[in-house]
Amino acid sequence: MKLHGTMEIKSDTLYIGGVNTVNMAEKYSTPLYIFDEELIRNNCKEYIKNFKVKENGNKVAYAGKAFLPLYMCKLIDEESLYLDVVSGGELFTAHKANFPMEKILFHGNNKTPDEIQMGIKYGVGRFVVDNFYELDIIERLCEEQNKIQDIYFRVTPGIDAHTHKYIRTGQIDSKFGFALTNGDFYLAVEKLKEYKNVNLMGIHAHIGSQIFQVEPFQEEVDVMINLVKELKEKYNIEITEVDFGGGIGVYYTEEDTPKSIKDFCEAIINKCEEKCKKLNINMPTLVIEPGRSLVANAGSTLYSIGSIKEIKDVRTYVSVDGGMTDNIRPSLYQAGYECAIVNKMNNISSNHKVTIAGKCCESGDILVSSTDIFNIESGDILITTSTGAYGYSMASNYNKIPKNPVVFVKDGEDKLVCKRQSYEDLLSLEV
Ligand code: PLP
Repeated sequence: MKLHGTMEIKSDTLYIGGVNTVNMAEKYSTPLYIFDEELIRNNCKEYIKNFKVKENGNKVAYAGKAFLPLYMCKLIDEESLYLDVVSGGELFTAHKANFPMEKILFHGNNKTPDEIQMGIKYGVGRFVVDNFYELDIIERLCEEQNKIQDIYFRVTPGIDAHTHKYIRTGQIDSKFGFALTNGDFYLAVEKLKEYKNVNLMGIHAHIGSQIFQVEPFQEEVDVMINLVKELKEKYNIEITEVDFGGGIGVYYTEEDTPKSIKDFCEAIINKCEEKCKKLNINMPTLVIEPGRSLVANAGSTLYSIGSIKEIKDVRTYVSVDGGMTDNIRPSLYQAGYECAIVNKMNNISSNHKVTIAGKCCESGDILVSSTDIFNIESGDILITTSTGAYGYSMASNYNKIPKNPVVFVKDGEDKLVCKRQSYEDLLSLEV
């Protein structure tokens, strides 16, 4: 198992942020999400530095869908990031955390009229407009309230990033955005002639997630910067911000070979500079929206091992006290994870493969399909690493299993950020 961030092994036991993980499992019980705060902050700083936020005024907006407790809103504000939200719930969280509303980008392919009204009322900086329906509503509501709203258009650029089909979004057959190839984007631009209460100041695209190569982003830059020039020449619209979305891939298992944050940032910025020079236009402000690459490796999940079922010559199932309710990714798109026993870190691998299963009533509730950790006993504490993105945020109450608590660790201290749901909480909405 790869050690991320501040992880270290001290006499057979795993420590994160200077904190003994076995003690965390005892203190908070399991299953438990544990986050390495220093790693998140370092990742933020890497983006701020390499995306030239201070130097060129570019913007890094954290994609809150990856993981958005109130504490994260405060942390990313302290680290000078913007925030991308996609729902009234995420917007409300940011508002409650006193996140500056002008630093919000409001995304989503079907924002409801209520959500749009909420965004206007709170004063979000930019709506990323996805479709004609939304554009009409924003215009109408802003006209009623005598406001002018800054907007981006979400473009479907026709780029096929080679990633899982569930997390691929740049191709023409997508529910997101205005497509360039069928002319929808240009129809939307034409519509602006009738609209007086929206200001198209940016364009945005997001080509997918868990992307390892820089080339799809460079292709995206090509399309988007061409568009900046075209909008100026054909429509006299000055695009001052170009947003390339998120999607930078991370390490989950040995099969993943992501480039560094620096490599991705440099590839995007260099390509933009080259392209703007070639087209003889000014560099716009550049925006990116990383989610996964800011938090995935910083989060881990601790579980207690319960039943161990050995089916001779077939398979050994090692079951834990969580599963698809706290990490849906393996069941949803066969995502792989690494794991270890935190109280037996020096166990060397054997050829005896086991399967780590969750506790939900689904045969597909498998967290790790095959691992060679051995000498496992009921009561041991298992860790799956890199569960920081799309784990807690996608958690469910299937089988009426309460959601795990979230603890941040740093410099030998632990801080409870989200409590464990209780059984009473599970029933709190039932009438
Ligand atoms: N921006 C947009 C519009 C997205 O849809 C997503 C993910 O779905 C992201 C940013 C974040 O992507 P990632 O977590 O892969 O960086």
